[in-house]
Amino acid sequence: MARVSARARPERERVLVPGRQDCPACGGHMRLRYENCRSLVTLSGMVRLRLRIRRCEAPDCRRFRVPYRPEAEGALALPQHEFGLDVIALGRNPIILVHSLRR
Ligand SMILES: [Zn+2]
Repeated sequence: MARVSARARPERERVLVPGRQDCPACGGHMRLRYENCRSLVTLSGMVRLRLRIRRCEAPDCRRFRVPYRPEAEGALALPQHEFGLDVIALGRNPIILVHSLRR
């Protein structure tokens, strides 16, 4: 069933930056190139994640322009999922959790 109303705006925000600055393939410096945002439903409420993305700019590197995302993102949620790993691990129904967060 499709969502009939807009999801509430997250009241908290976390900025995640990759800890690694050197390219895993060539060892060169990876610059911060752009940001992505995603909203995540966790047991403690909704969180807006601002993800700073690095990329290797060496043209001869096999990871040339491949995004390097913050490592901590994988500890919070699966890729392209809107529910955090804590929600999934407890096996709670995410739809019921979203409705309880609105109150
Ligand atoms: Zn590289």
